[in-house]
Amino acid sequence: MLDVAKIRKDFPILGGRKPIAYLDSAATSQRPEQVLEAVDNFNRTYNANVHRGLYAIAEEATLRYEESRAKAGNFINAPGASQVIFTRNTTEALNTVMRGWGGKSVKKGDKVVTTILEHHSNFVPWQQLAKMTGAKFEVVGMDDDGQLDEVELERALRGAKLFAFSAASNVLGTLSDAKKLCAMASENGAVSVVDAAQYAPSFPVDVKRMGCDFLAFSGHKMLAPFGVGVLYGRAELLEEMDPFIYGSEMIRSVTIAKSQWNDLPYKFESGTPDVGAVIGLGAAIDYLKRAGMENLLSHERMLTAYMLRRLGELRGVSVLGPKDAEKRAGLVAFTVAGVHPHDVAAMLSDDGVCVRSGHHCAMPLHGRLGIPASTRASVYIYNTKEEVDRLVQSLGRVRKTFG
Ligand code: PMP
Repeated sequence: MLDVAKIRKDFPILGGRKPIAYLDSAATSQRPEQVLEAVDNFNRTYNANVHRGLYAIAEEATLRYEESRAKAGNFINAPGASQVIFTRNTTEALNTVMRGWGGKSVKKGDKVVTTILEHHSNFVPWQQLAKMTGAKFEVVGMDDDGQLDEVELERALRGAKLFAFSAASNVLGTLSDAKKLCAMASENGAVSVVDAAQYAPSFPVDVKRMGCDFLAFSGHKMLAPFGVGVLYGRAELLEEMDPFIYGSEMIRSVTIAKSQWNDLPYKFESGTPDVGAVIGLGAAIDYLKRAGMENLLSHERMLTAYMLRRLGELRGVSVLGPKDAEKRAGLVAFTVAGVHPHDVAAMLSDDGVCVRSGHHCAMPLHGRLGIPASTRASVYIYNTKEEVDRLVQSLGRVRKTFG
């Protein structure tokens, strides 16, 4: 079990005389002292560029940077650290696959498949890939709970070159059976791309077990600073892929006639990376491991079940997605009858409750649901039932004000 009271003391932003109820970790998580200190220590004591310097602090920066890569690889059970590529975020990781693999392997008349549940970062790259190459773009539909339409999926995967889907939806919270979907893609000869932005922060990930070809996630949603994400890829695919951005560390040799690329993973890490953020990601992974991913998940599930129950009791509040906490990630999107989500979020903010409102970068999904926007509350390692109560109380005030 998590000692949440102790955990909360690690997060300076959650303290103070009038503490906020931070229920927006699906957008970005807060950072504990241990991560802030790791970044601060880097900046104060061994700030230097990585992979180049031969002096002591440059060597230390490189060592810590590569240590974070090993930790990230271990976190997702990657077969090797060279298959762990640091990007800026999930979006850049997915675009790296789109440009590097898609741009080379997808041809006119091929088919790329995604789902209606996706965040724009896992939708637009494939839509644009199809546009660039003349491939067909197919979007698999879902039922009202966000479960993929299996018949449509099987038909869409026939003859597909690539299938991109999220392991957990950032709006409905729906979890997909990633292992099964990757196997279905593979049986059809399609490459699988898993958007784990909402999944990796809370669920144990094992890319070997999952059998995915590519998987992407962002550090900032799992206690790390902004500026670092991870792309995992199967070695053979990464080897055959072209880099997406040229210059700096990704080069082995350059002549006027041609250039040769560096080995994995550096082939995809062009330009100076955000070294501090990468080191912060290592500290964040240490923190999560110490807490225990299983403990974190059961805490999140308890809070999600509580939130679903309490929101379900409020008249005029309609929860989107599955009603069973076991079937979703730790986020709940909802609508309040007659009140625009922006007004809901603004009124909650008056009570110190931080939630998100809008289309959550999932316009096709909101279109499918027949609503322009929703309000989303999400929980993570540091949240409590009392914070959910504050959300519910504040929503009661919204209902009274807007009648
Ligand atoms: N996919 C999903 C499911 C997400 O929730 C997000 C972040 N909201 C992203 C992709 C994009 O992540 P980032 O902004 O860190 O690139």
